[in-house]
Amino acid sequence: MDRRDLVIIGGGPAGLTAGIYASRASIDTVLLERGVPGGLVVSTYLIENYPGFSEGISGPDLMIQMEKQAGRFGCEILSANVEKIESNDKEFYLKTDHGEIVAGAVILASGVQSKLLGVKGEKELIGRGVSYCATCDGAFFRNKRVAVIGGGDAAVEEAIFLTRFAEKVYVIHRRGELRATKIVQQRAFQKQKIEFIWHGVVDEILGRNLVEAISVRDVRDSSKTLLEVEGVFIYVGSTPNTLLLKDLVKTDENGYIITDENMQTSQKGIFAAGDVRQKLLRQVVTAVADGAIAAVAAEKHLAELK
Ligand code: NAP
Repeated sequence: MDRRDLVIIGGGPAGLTAGIYASRASIDTVLLERGVPGGLVVSTYLIENYPGFSEGISGPDLMIQMEKQAGRFGCEILSANVEKIESNDKEFYLKTDHGEIVAGAVILASGVQSKLLGVKGEKELIGRGVSYCATCDGAFFRNKRVAVIGGGDAAVEEAIFLTRFAEKVYVIHRRGELRATKIVQQRAFQKQKIEFIWHGVVDEILGRNLVEAISVRDVRDSSKTLLEVEGVFIYVGSTPNTLLLKDLVKTDENGYIITDENMQTSQKGIFAAGDVRQKLLRQVVTAVADGAIAAVAAEKHLAELK
């Protein structure tokens, strides 16, 4: 059995920053990531509000740098999926698809995943026109008509990005006012290729093998319109990846982990950092701050154990 001081679960900005801080403090640390390190940021074309990059930086470039930085201090990054975590109040036992690990502290930085819209045709047409990542799939829609569902920052920013390729981008939002920040809204309103469909909800995504159309209902009078599109990009928020810990730590009604200001969860020795935790602002800048604090708090906890 592998024995470590600290296990970090998740290789996004929070997890990698925790890895940088913990490894630099000579804590025996392993970071477990089930996919590719970088987290959701990897699917962001341009990050404009992360300080230090006056012209912005692409999500993949920023995350490559963070991963390299963690590696420079000796943080080991393993590709593994954590299947179970148990605690005997002193140590944590983690069962992964690559073996078992015992650790003195755990930082959960497992992030969030895109919410499904939950309409007919969505699951059937994923990868056949339905996407949750414009940066990954936008180029397939050159000179085509696409729809973006949602009115938050993610929806509006990705709609702007899609205007590089698509001939027409419908943004379908269920209210008459966007949730996205004002500067992003203003940019979108200036794009001629973007057409907003207000008070609209998608009832069904239609298509045999590929997306062909969506059925949009006006919530004010229930009238329906069939919009011919070849791509549907869904950005209706996200849900936290907390299944692993749901019996071990307290969460809020939406499943986000509740921590104190030192990232300590309700279970001593388990810390949470980044989007997975209950917080006001889910961005890279707050994720990295959480990761740094969690690592220092974990270091203190480990010192108390010894
Ligand atoms: P969000 O802010 O929660 O927005 C979700 C949007 O989807 C809302 O407009 C919501 O409508 C709509 N929606 C939710 N459920 C729906 C449904 N069933 N049918 C139709 N529409 C539905 O999520 P997000 O845009 O993914 O952003 C998440 C966090 O990341 C936010 O804090 C955001 O600021 C941040 N973020 C920041 C940046 C950036 O700063 N560069 C980029 C992306 C994301 P209502 O408005 O009516 O609730």
